[in-house]
Amino acid sequence: MSNLRFQALNAVLTRSVPEVTLPSPKISDFFGCNVFDRRKMKDYLSKEAFQSVTDSVILGERIEREIAEQVASAMKAWAISQGVTHYTHWFQPLTGSTAEKHDSFFEPSGDGLGLEKFTGDALAQQEPDASSFPNGGIRSTFEARGYTAWDPSSPAFIMGKTLCIPTVFVSYTGEALDNKAPLLKAVSALDKAAVGVAQYFDKSIEKVNASLGIEQEYFLVDLALFNARPDLYLTGRTLFGHMSAKNQQLEDHYFGSIPGRVLAFMQDLEIESLKLGIPLKTRHNEVAPSQFECAPIYEEINLAIDHNQLLMDLMDKVALRHNFKVLLHEKPFAGVNGSGKHNNWSMITNTGKNLLSPGKTPKNNLMFLTFFVNTIKAVHEHADLLRASIASVSNDHRLGANEAPPAIISIFLGSQLSNVLDEIETSRITGKMKQEPTLWTNIPKIPQILLDNTDRNRTSPFAFTGNKFELRAVGSSANSAAPMTILNLIVAEQLTKFKVEVDKLLKKGEKKDVALMTVIKKYIKESKSIRFEGNGYSDEWAEEAEKRGLSNIKTTPKALDVLVDEKSTRLFEDTGVFSTREIHARHEILLENYFKKLQIEARVMGELVNNVIIPASVSYQTSLIENVKGLKEIGLQEDAYTAQLDIIKKLSYHINIVRSNVLEMVNERKKANVIEDAREKAVAYDEKVKSYFETIRYNVDKLERLVADDKWPLPKFRELLFIK
Ligand code: ADP
Ligand code: MG
Repeated sequence: MSNLRFQALNAVLTRSVPEVTLPSPKISDFFGCNVFDRRKMKDYLSKEAFQSVTDSVILGERIEREIAEQVASAMKAWAISQGVTHYTHWFQPLTGSTAEKHDSFFEPSGDGLGLEKFTGDALAQQEPDASSFPNGGIRSTFEARGYTAWDPSSPAFIMGKTLCIPTVFVSYTGEALDNKAPLLKAVSALDKAAVGVAQYFDKSIEKVNASLGIEQEYFLVDLALFNARPDLYLTGRTLFGHMSAKNQQLEDHYFGSIPGRVLAFMQDLEIESLKLGIPLKTRHNEVAPSQFECAPIYEEINLAIDHNQLLMDLMDKVALRHNFKVLLHEKPFAGVNGSGKHNNWSMITNTGKNLLSPGKTPKNNLMFLTFFVNTIKAVHEHADLLRASIASVSNDHRLGANEAPPAIISIFLGSQLSNVLDEIETSRITGKMKQEPTLWTNIPKIPQILLDNTDRNRTSPFAFTGNKFELRAVGSSANSAAPMTILNLIVAEQLTKFKVEVDKLLKKGEKKDVALMTVIKKYIKESKSIRFEGNGYSDEWAEEAEKRGLSNIKTTPKALDVLVDEKSTRLFEDTGVFSTREIHARHEILLENYFKKLQIEARVMGELVNNVIIPASVSYQTSLIENVKGLKEIGLQEDAYTAQLDIIKKLSYHINIVRSNVLEMVNERKKANVIEDAREKAVAYDEKVKSYFETIRYNVDKLERLVADDKWPLPKFRELLFIK
């Protein structure tokens, strides 16, 4: 083992920077070249088929079988022209990553010959033997079938020599087993509700798309060093490791100049992403050493999420070519910042209007205020659900760790918009103010908010940033579909309620603008407690939030409870986004994921302690003992080896603590493992097993500081974070 660390360090020293060349100096020449996009569809499809696919994408209309047949053969023709041999339905099971099962186009015809085939049926639906995907008890083993069904709104693409067709994944009995199916339902619910409300202002609005731009943070470590750390390759994070003397305290990494090897990786990643139609735009160093970020330009939400899933996959593949490993874990290194995935979200109409962009005229402002305040109200009503949607064992390390938003959901608006809402709250809208001119003067002017708004608050989990909301609490490894399903769903529900309230006032004969403002004002008042402009990292905020009645649920097993409570169940059933069976299954899967990951971490800890760390410490201790014996032998007194004795004793001290805590932890694990109920088991893992991690780690890190450097087997933080 000890050899492996030094072999790895040697390997890093001999790395060269691979040359990366742009396929063409103009990005537009190769952007989307691996995607069966609209342009290619137009070339390969009949007019009728092209129109049908377009309608399906824009209006959600069904695609007839005959058309599917045409699309399939067009896709095949295009793919084969690109050297593709296989196709796969590409889907997002609840494992968190993506899944694919490749089939060859080639089919033997029985006479020793054969031909390339791809039918409409094969495009529209597949039946992967899916018994090993998480299903939360929905599929009993005797009914292991699952179906994948084509999602025409996300274009097919080529990865390697395979044509990938984005699909949803459902069980034989129709329950969603993936992340995409519920997202599509929530997005469509939002569309319907938002159009209903938008029509108060503009009858030409027929469609509202949620838009999403995802900023992705990640760490890069050298592949050889990564492979010398079993904790990294088995759990995605370092379970041990003393902090490097230099870390992020000088703040010299953020936006700093990008090291050559990293830059080459980024360029390569960008090229591969652009070829797949992912509009990567931004790259920079992040706060922690070896931490970076990339972000595409925002897109329609379903596509943006597919693209982010694809991006994570690409990062992994491209990194290998550069002898890097990408760490998407939320907290790979204790002591420096973790990684998140900022979800920039808005709503955009078919007329091209961003509903969260303040307008120049009062009428536009009223429309903005309507959507703005409804979003705030939705988050106020369902803050716990949003919290649950970002809960995971790895994100627990980050939320509330004074570097990422706290586990308390609150909304930051910036002083200008806060003032606007305060003004409305205290203004009198009803009563005498029924004449138009008076009303408009009572809608405060909303400044065209500076897009490069300096009024930024990095400590808020949900912040308004000029023309969009930014959910910052999402974990870096997460599939954004989970939180975005919830966000779209709760805003949809809220807008529907809003319309009912406004319509009621209209029926009573109230003027439209007065009716709108009346309900808006009421919502501002009702949702006030969720707004917070101060420092979200401070202890005062935790106290204040508690007074306001906001929840602060720190760990996943408990944060997930809300998914299956009565209020949520009703919301899910009413909107059709999750059936009760589906949400219970999901709850179960999330809990299982939680304790299974902790179980793996606990096992890795035990293994490393017993087989790597204690042996290394003992071996060093033995060499000290030999030394002391020798000094004694040549007749020296104790003052000649006090230091050695001290180290020998300290080593024993920490070895004993580490060993006894591991034994106790294993005991607790055994107890937890026999618990049947998933929630109870997850709580036991959280409270009884995980509670040993800190002590074990603390003492292992002490040993790291005592043992001679050349005897320490695991690459150190300074090497992982600084050597490239
Ligand atoms: P930041 O300053 O927050 O780091 P970035 O430029 O890195 O900003 O990322 C902002 C993200 O927000 C980008 O993906 C951008 O395309 C996206 N964005 C901008 N406008 C909208 C919008 N109307 N809806 C959704 N996302 C948007
Ligand atoms: Mg941002």
